[in-house]
Amino acid sequence: MRKVLLVRYGEVFLKGANRPHFLKILTDNVKKAVKPIGGHVWLSDSRVYVSNVEDMDECVRRVRKVFGLYSVSPAIECEKDLDEIGRQCIEMMRGRSGSFKVFGKRSDKKFPMNSLELAAEIGGRVLESNPNLSVDIHNPEIKLRVEIRDMCYICVDEIMASGGLPMGTGGRAALLLSGGIDSPVAGYSMMKRGVRICAIHFQSPPYTGELAKDKVMRLARELGEYAGGMRVYLVPFTKCQLEIHEKCPEGLGTLITRRFMMRIANELARQYGAQALITGESLGQVASQTMDALVCTDAVVDMPVFRPLIGMDKTEIMDIAKRIETYETSILPYEDCCTVFTPRHPVTKPKLDTMPKAESKLDIEALVKEAVENTEMEIVY
Ligand code: ATP
Ligand code: MG
Repeated sequence: MRKVLLVRYGEVFLKGANRPHFLKILTDNVKKAVKPIGGHVWLSDSRVYVSNVEDMDECVRRVRKVFGLYSVSPAIECEKDLDEIGRQCIEMMRGRSGSFKVFGKRSDKKFPMNSLELAAEIGGRVLESNPNLSVDIHNPEIKLRVEIRDMCYICVDEIMASGGLPMGTGGRAALLLSGGIDSPVAGYSMMKRGVRICAIHFQSPPYTGELAKDKVMRLARELGEYAGGMRVYLVPFTKCQLEIHEKCPEGLGTLITRRFMMRIANELARQYGAQALITGESLGQVASQTMDALVCTDAVVDMPVFRPLIGMDKTEIMDIAKRIETYETSILPYEDCCTVFTPRHPVTKPKLDTMPKAESKLDIEALVKEAVENTEMEIVY
């Protein structure tokens, strides 16, 4: 007998010729998720299994984050021997109360009882062992599942996983990751659809300190739990910001800063092999996120910019941040490189054709090149 985690995957994406390829990616992603806790992972009979973990709760926490999975159940694996199965079922139901039903499933046709006989027999034994249980075959509170496969698998609890598509099946994109609430949620939303992401963070020392960096690395690590780790590009941004502050109209400072972030991100994304950029912008949230402003930011890049939060309210975004476990980190105090130079009266309806003049005193190409060349890359797990 040993404890295993039984992992069910969503079938939607598994149609057609891609099936073996997708299943390999999915299994590999589960392997990556449990690698830090030493789990052993295998695929069998349209299930993924994890064994060899001491802390099952931690295993569940990690595996639930793998996209493309439907649900997980901590289970017992034992020999296909009726008495042994009965003992394990009684043990699993010990301390529980309420109505239950046994769901038998015989995939191994050599087992001497069929599914219904097995369920009835085990149900009887469990009922006898625990006076706080009753049988309800129509609407049971507790579903005890007994499956006869290459071994026997017994489980009770089913915990929903994240859904989505397997990481790595949806291309690559680069996420502009700040220390705020929004950008981690934006990254998560794209990862959920199978997109592998890297993070790009702009820092402006000495205006932003080590604390800001630590916070972003922590967010990247938390997001990385959904992806088996990720790359983080740390861009030195002080020079760009100082030059913009000095040489550009004040009211356009934030917008021009955003345009530089996008230009630099565009270059780094290309190096990473990404086909798109991702930001946490939401329409109208701040002056640089009006439609006019977004038109001006998009104009400097040559790849699509995905903004999965564009139509969401802050409260909706916060709810997701809490659910995906990035919120607590996002609300830690920190100084953002943007807030340091924020103009008092930002222009909310900038015109695209006024941008070249506003940026005319800057050597755009040289600034972008220098920032890209001095960017450092770290990998988080
Ligand atoms: P967030 O909560 O993600 O910080 P925000 O509402 O504060 O977003 P802005 O500061 O205007 O919005 O930034 C908009 C988007 O630009 C962010 O969601 C993020 O994608 C990107 N961004 C902002 N600051 C940085 C930074 N220092 N490094 C990388 N990306 C950034
Ligand atoms: Mg921000």
